[in-house]
Amino acid sequence: MNVLNMIRSNGPISKAEIAEQVQVSPTTVATILMKLMDEDYVREEGIGSSTGGRKPILYRFNPDKSNIIAVSMRNSSIQLAVLNLEGDRTKERIYNVENVKGETYIHYLMNALSIFINSINNQKDFVGIAIVCPGVVDAKNGTILYNAKLDLYDVELKAKVEQAFNLQTYVENDMNALVIAEKQFGDAPFSEMLYLSIDEGVGSGIIVNDHLFRGYSGSAGEIGHMSVVPGGIGCSCGNQGCLENYVSWPAIYARILSAWFTQREENSIVEKANRMPEKIKPSHFVEAACEGDPVALKIVEEMAEYIAVAITNVLHFMNPQVVILHGEHMVNNEPLISAIKKKVERRTMKIVTKSLEIRQTALGNDMNLLGALAVLLQDEMQVGKYNVFLQQQKV
Ligand SMILES: [Zn+2]
Repeated sequence: MNVLNMIRSNGPISKAEIAEQVQVSPTTVATILMKLMDEDYVREEGIGSSTGGRKPILYRFNPDKSNIIAVSMRNSSIQLAVLNLEGDRTKERIYNVENVKGETYIHYLMNALSIFINSINNQKDFVGIAIVCPGVVDAKNGTILYNAKLDLYDVELKAKVEQAFNLQTYVENDMNALVIAEKQFGDAPFSEMLYLSIDEGVGSGIIVNDHLFRGYSGSAGEIGHMSVVPGGIGCSCGNQGCLENYVSWPAIYARILSAWFTQREENSIVEKANRMPEKIKPSHFVEAACEGDPVALKIVEEMAEYIAVAITNVLHFMNPQVVILHGEHMVNNEPLISAIKKKVERRTMKIVTKSLEIRQTALGNDMNLLGALAVLLQDEMQVGKYNVFLQQQKV
């Protein structure tokens, strides 16, 4: 960890503590601090308690030093926001893009960005634009390689956005961004992590040895297309019985409707939506399950079974320290999470589950924007200029 990140995650902190944690000499820390304070990334904040000698000055990160423009591309919406370096939002806009695809989608995105950026007064305070999107992304070149649902193939988005707005731009897969955000902001300092998101679609982000695992062409973590039912429902990917077709929100919504229409099973999920099936939301399902509604619990049981099969496969394969669950019909769904835990425990080798933690995300559901920030911070502060600076100082 470098000096700036140490202050960001542990400040207010004294010079001596930084030196100890980062393992560089106090003189080196002093030089770096001077530079960081000069650029206003770090400020003095009060005096710490003495351990014998003079009371030390404490330093803290200045999250308002600059802002970023965070963009979350989804199948049905484009969300834009101004965030400071701690993720506080000052401006936000959501555009509905239902059924917009391909070039038209990119055209909408560029227009939305243009209107949004033009409405901001102090544009010079921005360090960059960070865009997260579903699909396979070449993050190094900022190219969306493959997104079947949005009909996007080989879109050189970074180049396009940088040329139009003259701001450093980052493009990253949404699941990768979320797992980095969990590590940076979510109190999950694990080296081996599986981040599993079950929402509109199903995907995962994987951290191996403290690094994002992308696979050869960037498509690692497509857990939604893991077979959980041999010979099951045919999937758009070409496979059969893919997890996504059994547990994503569209699948669960269809399951709720079929219970209501065909089996005439009374359930409080539909009641919660005032008996208007088109108004049923994931939160209705979660509430009903937590209140013990029999139909909701039956669906929870089925869901847990499929998810447990998938998690067990991954656990045996990659042996992570933690599995973090995310998604609107999953988070705060206590019966579901506890059923998943029990089923995984029952199926998995003891050596794998011995110190394993399965927990829900600490960051809430609406965290794609935070993911975008995490991607930018990671680049700006870890592999970016301050690492170079640190290395120079060390020499
Ligand atoms: Zn599939």
